Amino acid sequence: MKNTKFIFVMGGTVSSLGKGVASSSIGYLLQSRGVNLTLLKIDPYINVDPGTMNPYQHGEVYVLDDGAETDLDLGHYERYTNLTLTRKNNFTTGQVYQTVIMRERRGDYLGKTVQVVPHITDEIKRRILDVARGKDLIIVEIGGTIGDIEGQPFIEAIRQMRFDVGRENTLYIVLTLIPYIRVSGELKTKPTQHSVRELQSLGIQPDIILCRTEKPLTDEMKGKISLFCNVEKEAVITAIDVENIYEIPLKFHQERLEQLIIKKLNLKCDSLSIDEWEEMVYRIKHPEDKVDIAFVGKYTRLKESYKSLTEAFVHAGARLNLRVNLNWVDAEEINPSKVDHIFSHVNGIIVPGGFGERGIEGKIEAVRYARERKIPFLGICLGMQCAVIEFARNVAHLNDANSEEFCPESSCKVIHLARRWTKNGEIIERNEKSEKGGTMRLGAYPCQIKRGTKAYQAYNEELIYERHRHRYEFNNDYRKILEDNGFIVSGESPGGEFAEIVEIKDHPFFVGTQFHPEFKSRPLSPHPLILEFVKSAYEKGRTEKKHL
Ligand code: GLN
Repeated sequence: MKNTKFIFVMGGTVSSLGKGVASSSIGYLLQSRGVNLTLLKIDPYINVDPGTMNPYQHGEVYVLDDGAETDLDLGHYERYTNLTLTRKNNFTTGQVYQTVIMRERRGDYLGKTVQVVPHITDEIKRRILDVARGKDLIIVEIGGTIGDIEGQPFIEAIRQMRFDVGRENTLYIVLTLIPYIRVSGELKTKPTQHSVRELQSLGIQPDIILCRTEKPLTDEMKGKISLFCNVEKEAVITAIDVENIYEIPLKFHQERLEQLIIKKLNLKCDSLSIDEWEEMVYRIKHPEDKVDIAFVGKYTRLKESYKSLTEAFVHAGARLNLRVNLNWVDAEEINPSKVDHIFSHVNGIIVPGGFGERGIEGKIEAVRYARERKIPFLGICLGMQCAVIEFARNVAHLNDANSEEFCPESSCKVIHLARRWTKNGEIIERNEKSEKGGTMRLGAYPCQIKRGTKAYQAYNEELIYERHRHRYEFNNDYRKILEDNGFIVSGESPGGEFAEIVEIKDHPFFVGTQFHPEFKSRPLSPHPLILEFVKSAYEKGRTEKKHL
């Protein structure tokens, strides 16, 4: 195996410091210097994957091309590096134990006592090495915070790895919080000292400390952290709070972080080229105008559960020189008497994906408003399904139209459970009783686009691949009657079994997608449909202003 280098990123003091973005930023910088790398997220919880976890607790479930339901940090990894990751790039304690217990049952351990060290730690290392194969470098992010019980086997495994692959090939990075105490006007290093000491007690001496802080660290403070934590002063890096996360690689570069990593790991590199990225960050910070879009969701309290979508709007805004203001609307608050008031200030309406019945009628009402008032509309997954129901009820007069998800007894299930389909030649079957974790259409599927539609105008391509995560589908039995009323299926699976994109006639922009376009939006290549949607919302705002 070639000499792969390993960077391990851990978090100290508190959670939510942005380890995922920090790892992605390091990835971006090293990649911009020609390093062929990959990233891996290890989640210490016992769930086998985050697919069944509550978005309130876990944030977004990010879906990869291969259908893996992963931690939202994988979204950051893909956005910063443009890599297409696979299910191997994210694993959990649950998966590690599942493998080890399966082997034990099979008798592979030949009667030995199966233990955390070495059996669990060996399986962790095997998985890390498996992802790293063939790469110059891998960045491994350990979820959770140093000192968590769940994280211990992972910390132990990566401690051992320094011995296995050599000191010169490993680098330990810790991200900690330097709190600012307003009353005394001071930054405090003590929590960092404690976290690092805890890590040292587990046998790991960090090489680099990233200090998340509101205020720049003084030279003196860097000296103090260096002394107490046993790292060189140049390896104490200020990770200053920034307005938008895409600035972080630029800040890290200014702090000479990637130069330090290159030196410490003795990497062979090209010179840095980040002009395009700098330009994108500049546009986000200096928009020429703004556009207001209503975001009609269920989890509006927890914006993390729509991470990829909110980021996709940042990408589109950067391309168009616009600030996209998302007005968060709780679907349960919407009813016919309030719609005018709720949507009077917006130029576009988006209904994103979601599960469960709550807020559905409000979402359908939002669709009706967008359709009738000719407000640019984008419906994603559940949002597209709501658009189909709305059209069926109010235009095609199918009054009982509903989704099997919310109303299994409806006589007119325009959205229903697909029971059988093919993926890459393989037949997939399921029914109402199939396990929760395994019944969805997941990952990238091809979609053929009809010429002369809004979808074609956006993609300018006939065959695209987009990522899915849903159980229910458009019911083709109703296609004809809806089409007769002005409904358009502008994208479908190559065999025609699934409607993937829908539109309506005579509307400036009304598009629903069964897939999630947001998973493929990147800062330097915004998603074409989201871009078109924002563009038409902005156009609408401009024409209205002119008429005032
Ligand atoms: N609940 C719907 C389904 O399962 C939509 C899912 C989604 O929006 N991701 O089909």
